[in-house]
Amino acid sequence: TDGTAARLVEQHTAIIEDFPKAGITFRDLTPVFADGAALRAVTDALVAPFAGRIDAVAGVEARGFLLAASAAYAMGLGVLVIRKPGKLPREVISESYDLEYGSTSLEVQPSDFPPGTRILLLDDVLATGGTLAASSRLMERAGWVVAGVSVVLELEELDGRANLEGRDIRSISVV
Ligand code: AMP
Repeated sequence: TDGTAARLVEQHTAIIEDFPKAGITFRDLTPVFADGAALRAVTDALVAPFAGRIDAVAGVEARGFLLAASAAYAMGLGVLVIRKPGKLPREVISESYDLEYGSTSLEVQPSDFPPGTRILLLDDVLATGGTLAASSRLMERAGWVVAGVSVVLELEELDGRANLEGRDIRSISVV
């Protein structure tokens, strides 16, 4: 990982106890995104390990979108949007996954990129890994290659990597 980006993440992350409910330590990265130098350093560090090996960048609604757009612009690539159900107007495929209570799903439009496109998947936080695992399955079902998964912050105690076995996962900062 890039030491400068990691320091900026650690400096700017806001820690909120008991949000969104008792017992959760929420790590809010909006101050990282709010700082121009930090956003640029984080964006560059997310994609650096994959330079020259990807054709597009994917972001998971909603915070992943801003990282994906920022990274794609920096690399001169396009963006795949992985969206919550019912938002995409054309033919979609969807993948369900379990949340702490109940389940939800994510969707992509397979016609947005040709089969074999090598895509880097981005998100802000790797927690249980449920979101990124479902996103990865979805991308493969659409015919694309998941070149890797890159996140700003990894919450080590939740062992999200166990849900993403066999994938090339990078995190700028680990807590
Ligand atoms: P997960 O599917 O458990 O890896 O987490 C899904 C999403 O929830 C992540 O992309 C984060 O945006 C968010 N999230 C989960 N836990 C936290 C946390 N403790 N602090 C900040 N964001 C979190």
